[in-house]
Amino acid sequence: MSAGIFAAMRSTNTHLGHLRDGSSPRHRHRALRIATDSPSCLLRTAEGGLCPDCGNQVHWYRGIEHQPVRLHPHELPTAAVPEVHRWHIGAGVAYPAGDGSPWCRIAHRTLCPAHDTPEHLTQPLVRLRQRLALQTRRLLDDGAFTPPGQHAPAGSRPMPPCRPARPVVDVLGSRYLAKQPIQEIRCVARTHRGTRCLNRVLASRKPHGTWRLTTLLPGRPPVLPAVEIAVYDLGHLAHAEQQRWRAQRCPTHALIPKAADMARDDWEIFDPLLHRQHVATRLPVGAQGRPRGRA
Ligand SMILES: [Zn+2]
Ligand SMILES: [Zn+2]
Repeated sequence: MSAGIFAAMRSTNTHLGHLRDGSSPRHRHRALRIATDSPSCLLRTAEGGLCPDCGNQVHWYRGIEHQPVRLHPHELPTAAVPEVHRWHIGAGVAYPAGDGSPWCRIAHRTLCPAHDTPEHLTQPLVRLRQRLALQTRRLLDDGAFTPPGQHAPAGSRPMPPCRPARPVVDVLGSRYLAKQPIQEIRCVARTHRGTRCLNRVLASRKPHGTWRLTTLLPGRPPVLPAVEIAVYDLGHLAHAEQQRWRAQRCPTHALIPKAADMARDDWEIFDPLLHRQHVATRLPVGAQGRPRGRA
């Protein structure tokens, strides 16, 4: 039965690891396609990408909670997919259920060889998972993929420690994407010499934020497929301290509200789909934070 199923999969889809145009998926990094006339800027269609954990091709969709959903790029015969793992696409939105048709989609996470095997996988899915694992092995052998947190081979330059280049920060009840690593976020105030202040917002004499793993959508229970995100949480600091961070000012210039800003602050409202490449799912190395809010 499984051979037939995979023959059917191949007959309706491209071969695993290769695209319709025959190119390798790892060369296809495209920007998100957004409907320019849409005020909500919803993702109009699926976008291809690579799983950061295993290097295999995935399709991104927006879920019903507006969460990013990573699906296996090909449809599968519904009969081969346990009900709990079925997804379907309706009007560009990913729904965690089948739609009654003989074909369905599946979350990449269910098949991702970098994660534990979910329970109750059918034989066809087990084999598909093995094929993805094989593809990961090929990418590793070709040097085309480096698993997260893994150091480069001996003799080459070691990878820098895990430190998000653009961390996600919870402050004043909102979630933002920073433009620089936490330690490098710079005061925006103008000094009396007419130059931009050189001080950093993070100050040794002030209480620091805490790295923690939390749900993708702030203050909401986990949504499928559940993804944890590492955030730098400033929410436990005094309100004035949080305002100082939000205004992007050093402790000195927080005390001089009349000092003009020399630059605009760099905070961007965090969007889990648009900013998905900045979603860190592990705490930075050496982070003081403890995992909280696990699903
Ligand atoms: Zn994966
Ligand atoms: Zn300053």
